[in-house]
Amino acid sequence: MPKRVVVTGGAGFLGSHLCERLLARGDEVICLDNFLTGSPENVAHLMGERRFRLLECDVTGFVHVPGEVDLVLHLASAASPADYLDHPIETLRVGSEGTSHMLGLAREKGARFLLASTSEVYGDPLEHPQRETYWGNVNPVGPRSVYDEAKRFAESLTTAYRTTHGLDTAIVRIFNTYGPRMRPNDGRAIPTFIRQALTGQPITVTGDGTQTRSICYVDDTVTGILALAGSVHSGPVNIGNPVEMTMLELAGTIRELTGSASPIQHIDRPADDPAVRRPDTTLAGELLGWHARVDPGTGLRRTIGWFRRELGRPSAAA
Ligand code: NAD
Repeated sequence: MPKRVVVTGGAGFLGSHLCERLLARGDEVICLDNFLTGSPENVAHLMGERRFRLLECDVTGFVHVPGEVDLVLHLASAASPADYLDHPIETLRVGSEGTSHMLGLAREKGARFLLASTSEVYGDPLEHPQRETYWGNVNPVGPRSVYDEAKRFAESLTTAYRTTHGLDTAIVRIFNTYGPRMRPNDGRAIPTFIRQALTGQPITVTGDGTQTRSICYVDDTVTGILALAGSVHSGPVNIGNPVEMTMLELAGTIRELTGSASPIQHIDRPADDPAVRRPDTTLAGELLGWHARVDPGTGLRRTIGWFRRELGRPSAAA
């Protein structure tokens, strides 16, 4: 049965891919976004679709959504460290007040609610790989806390709505995801490395580059989010690709795949940057039959292809 789905942050990187996939399967989509870090351009190709509506609004305030709603996918939040450090209060507010309003909307409509949480709730983890049972290691007054603690609060609030009001909720903990429509200057490692490699600038690796991340291609993440949304499970469930690599390996792979001669340059490592990050995705496999399928080489090639076209456009080259 087609559903009527609200996607907050739908004009962002992940949200726009979700909107696309929902429309492709026949759903109706109401996309809510204030364009803080997203852009109408990300969903411009969907605007002619009669089952798609884009509402410019800030979900930290009251939002009126007319008609029935079956599912609320709450993705609104700055997500890259550069963005949330530029917008610390907005990030805390969208995680707290924004989540509260969207839980209220789901309750009013009798809809299922899914919170897009993050591997950042594990902070600089002392357990490796990270299972959903791990409570995390977060500095509550460190610079990253505006994001990490906002998401931890959002998880707590989502759980309270479930236990107090019987709301049908789910929490997905998304690990580093990459793909087309990331902003070349959003400060995250993959768009930064690709932009630098394609424009012949030094590829800037923070610290000695031995810190690790696990990178998941956006199509896999979207499949995982929708699998959880379509299930009866409440989570939290990790969604990510367990293939782990060091930042130095990632920079080298991107240099090779772009055919770039850019040198690698080491720069200062940000405060509280996690040393390791790898999801244990056993639960997603057991509950949802979900596994990441796109290997990093394939996903990076597709992403590089998109960045090549994007950086060739005059408005995006800055
Ligand atoms: P993004 O910055 O591209 O998208 C976030 C969107 O939310 C943007 O379009 C932005 O304009 C919108 N937004 C922010 N505040 C808002 C507000 N108050 N009202 C309405 N809209 C608002 O980031 P993304 O990478 O697409 O991340 C989407 C979600 O997934 C975030 O909640 C993020 O925490 C989560 N997540 C992403 C990743 C990842 O690797 N991309 C990893 C973990 C979690």
